Parts: sequence; C-alpha cells; structure tokens
Amino acid sequence: MTDIEKPTNFIQQVISADLDAGRVDSVVTRFPPEPNGYLHIGHAKSICLNFGLAQQFGGVCNLRFDDTNPEKEDDEYVQAIIEDVRWLGFDWAGEPKFASDYFAQLYSWAQHLIREGKAYICELNAEQMREYRGTLTEVGKNSPYRERLVEESLELLEQMKIGAVDEGTMTLRAKIDMQSPNINMRDPVMYRIKKMAHHRTGDTWNIYPSYDFAHGQEDAIEGVTHSVCTLEFAANRPLYEWFTNNLPLPSTPHQYEFGRLNLNYTVTSKRKLKQLVDENHVDGWDDPRMPTISGLRRRGVTSAAVREFCDSLAVAKTDGIVDLAQFEHFIRDDLNETARRAMCVLNPLKITLSNYEEGKEELLSAAGHPNRDDLPARQLPFGREIYIDHSDFSEDTSLSRKKFKRLVIGDYVRLRGASVIRADQVIRDSHDQIIEIVGSYVPDTVGENPPEGIRPRGVIHWVSATNSVDCDLYLYENLFTEAAPDAGEGSFIDHLNPQSLKIVKNCKAELGLGDAVVGQQYQFEREGYYCLDGKHSSAEKLVFNRTINLR
Ligand code: ATP
Ligand code: MG
Repeated sequence: MTDIEKPTNFIQQVISADLDAGRVDSVVTRFPPEPNGYLHIGHAKSICLNFGLAQQFGGVCNLRFDDTNPEKEDDEYVQAIIEDVRWLGFDWAGEPKFASDYFAQLYSWAQHLIREGKAYICELNAEQMREYRGTLTEVGKNSPYRERLVEESLELLEQMKIGAVDEGTMTLRAKIDMQSPNINMRDPVMYRIKKMAHHRTGDTWNIYPSYDFAHGQEDAIEGVTHSVCTLEFAANRPLYEWFTNNLPLPSTPHQYEFGRLNLNYTVTSKRKLKQLVDENHVDGWDDPRMPTISGLRRRGVTSAAVREFCDSLAVAKTDGIVDLAQFEHFIRDDLNETARRAMCVLNPLKITLSNYEEGKEELLSAAGHPNRDDLPARQLPFGREIYIDHSDFSEDTSLSRKKFKRLVIGDYVRLRGASVIRADQVIRDSHDQIIEIVGSYVPDTVGENPPEGIRPRGVIHWVSATNSVDCDLYLYENLFTEAAPDAGEGSFIDHLNPQSLKIVKNCKAELGLGDAVVGQQYQFEREGYYCLDGKHSSAEKLVFNRTINLR
C-alpha cells in the first residue's frame, strides 16, 4: 500500500518506513478538533492530510472531538464540524469519537501515576505556580507539595472530582523535572478543577484533564499510529511521550508535527474568528467573507477546490504564509469546469428593438456549459425588450473597435446566444440620464453570421426585459486591508475592510435562475462566479453571492 503518485512528504515517508519495517500493521490517523468554534481553511489542511494519509495507505482516520474544556465548547460546534468534514468529502471510521468518552479511563490512569509516585496534588495557586515554574533561562523549583503521600493525593483527587474542593486551589501535576530545559516538562498540570457542566458529560465531573494529559492517551485508546499535529505542539512531544511511556496503554502512538497553513488577508484562529462573529463584524460563522469551511461553502467555493488547494501545499516542518491568489487559482479552476453558465445584468439598461414584432417571444437555446454536454441546455426568452448592462453601452462613436468591444450608438454588437443588434437612438430622462436605447435586430443572425458589411464589435450578455428574474448580488472583497492583519501593533479588528461587502440591488437574471438551488454554482457570463444565498434569498427576491470574479 505504499505506492504513492505524488512526491512524498516527510510524514508519508515515515509511514512507508513503519509499514515496511513492520512497526505498524495498518495506519490509523485522527483529526482532533476542539468543538469551540467552526472549522477554517487551516483545519482543512489538517483534515486533507490526516484523512488523505489514511486513504493513501489503506488505513482509517478517526474524527475525534477534543472536548476537555467545557468552558468554550458547545454541541453547536460539534454538529457544524461534522457537517464540514463530510462536505469536504471525508468519512471517518465508525461514530465520531469524543475525548469525554475517555474521562473515566483517564481518571484511572491519573490514579495509576499517583500510585507510581509520578503525580501529586499541588496546592500552589496559579500565580505561585508561575513563580515556581521558572522561565526559559531559569530553571524552576520544586513545589512544596511534591512529596505528598500517595494516599493523600489519591484522596484529594477524589475530593476534587466530586466537587468538594474550590476551583483554583488544587491541581494534579505530573512529577517530572522542574530543572528541565523544556518548560512543558516542569511538572505539568494533568487535572484542574472546573465546576462547570460539560456539553456531553453534564455535571459528572468537577475536574477536567489538560490537553497534554489527554491527547496521547486518547490516541492510544483508539490505536492511532501516527498522530499528526501542528508545529506549536513540537515542544509538547516529550511530554506526550512521557505519558505514553509511563502508562499501561493499549498501544503506543507517535506524534509528528507539520507547519500550519496561514493565508494572507485573513485570520485563521478560531478565537479571532469568534470575535468577528460575537462583535457582529460579520454575518455569523458562515459569512461568505469568513475563511471558515461553512463560509467558503456559502460563498460557493467547491469542496474539490479546497481539497485541491490543500493537497497542493507543502507538508513542511516550518510554518508558512500562503498567498490568497494561490487558493483563488484552485477556486476558479474548479468553477470553470463545473459551474453552469447563465446571464445576469448587474446594471440594467433597457433596449427596445423597434423592428421586432410586439408581443412576440421566442425561446432560444443556449448551452449549459461550453464544453460539457452532460449539463442541461438553457432556454432564453427573447423579445422586443431586453436588458443589457449600462457599462456595455457608449455614445462615443470615436471609441476604437479594439478598445470597446461593446455596443456603440450606430454600431452593431452580438447578444450572446441571440441576434446581432444595432443601437439607433438614446432616450434620456429630465436629468439627462440615459434610460433606454431604441435599437433594431438583424434578422436570421441567431447562431448565424450577419450579412456582409455588418461587423459586430463584440459579444455582450443580456436578458429579456419582460421574462427575467429580479435578484440582488452580494459582492465580496477581502475581509482585511492588510496582508497580515494580526501582525504588528493594535488589534486585527483595526484592519477590517469597510468595503468587504458591496450589495448590488435590482439586477436582472435569466429566467432559468428562478430555479437556482443552494449549492449549485453558476458563471454569470462576463461577470464572475455566483451561487444562491440560502440565508438572504426569499420567494420575492433572489440573492446571489459572488464567489469570485473572472480573472
Ligand atoms: P485555532 O488556533 O484556530 O483555534 P486550533 O489548533 O486550536 O486552531 P483545534 O481544534 O485544536 O484548533 O485543531 C484541530 C486540528 O487542526 C489540530 O490538529 C490542529 O493542529 C489543526 N490545525 C488548526 N489550525 C491549523 C492550521 N492553520 N493549519 C493546519 N492545521 C491546523
Ligand atoms: Mg486548540
């Protein structure tokens, strides 16, 4: 199972070697989100990596919620994460798993370490604990509670668990080495008191395990062979190994770290994204400007584009910042292949074709996609009154044909999928604004060349003025004006882009878009990629989100 087409990253190499040497029989990975927010594009990299490794090596990947901190966790996040991972196209082994399912087991392993003389109840408060811990340049000193009797620690841990001890007054700590150059090894906290209900275990527990005491053991319970996490956990690896070496675990997992994905012009931190939501800078976690998976989905980005992008990224041992343009490349690439073509006029200008029979309407057929026969053709009603975009018309007859390939008074243009037309006369309102064009069509030019002497300047999009649907378009720009919004002084909030959402009202879309459904992407020809917004659309008014402009 080690035939890999792409260049192998270092984790693939480790796995290949482990399989070849018989150190593992089959590969088990996991994706371990904390349910304290929605997943973002950074998580997508981790998801694609972990699930991808399992697929590649014929193993399995677990979805495990790291719900060890009830303060910030919620079932809403659990459900959103499940939906997002599924949408990305991945499936986990069995049911989703939860750290909280292992609380009883973790507790008994804590008792084990106490009995072995490798853990103790400490009564230093947070501030004292900081003092005793030392710094990067100064070693720590032993807690006065370090040599507490085993029986006493066991009894106190039980008291902590049942809620008989005040928060902040006691912790369970591993007895490792206060002189260690690695601060993580200076008697780290295993359990802290939190008299708080948990979204799954309710009031059962008044103590909760630390990440470090939980993570490796959870991996071992699940038989995870390769526990892949981001670089900030590299310094925790010795501690991960200390626990896995000092406990009677059912298996011995190993941790490997890779660089986080950071994208410019955005933030990828759940805490910061939550702040954007809580302070109403955006329309929820799934605001189409958010780098969350749900935001990308609502914006119309396809899951294939997210996967392709993530797979294109190096799995490196350093953090990097990826240019947003790189992501956009994959978004356009996929939409170009998959999005159905349609026409929508953003700034409608009416043209009355004076030589077209009044009251008559024909249905013209247009391709659903220029090179995909599998997508259904569209029916475009065509009649005497149509809309084109204001920007596609000019009265300036001196504009060169090369520069302005659109409609100019007295000249010809082709309506996409329909006839060649000419602009004959401009009608203005009392403020001298152009409100309508009177024009004419050239008969028998649908799908046919016009007669000799008629040279259309170009091809423009249009819709029927009497048989189209009304819609509003939400155009999005970057959420931040700075490439690195969270670097430097001040808050990242200071760099929010006030122009990040522009709403274009009263657009006219081709009739078929009245049947648009959420989750279907469209290319509005000459304008960009769009999708229906499920939240803002109503029976009266459709709302489309611009996923991305055309290049
Ligand atoms: P955040 O800082 O946004 O809260 P986190 O690391 O705290 O992220 P978790 O829910 O703990 O979020 O992450 C689940 C998994 O996703 C972890 O293995 C983590 O390493 C990985 N992950 C999180 N952010 C990124 C990122 N930007 N790039 C790659 N992997 C990431
Ligand atoms: Mg985290």
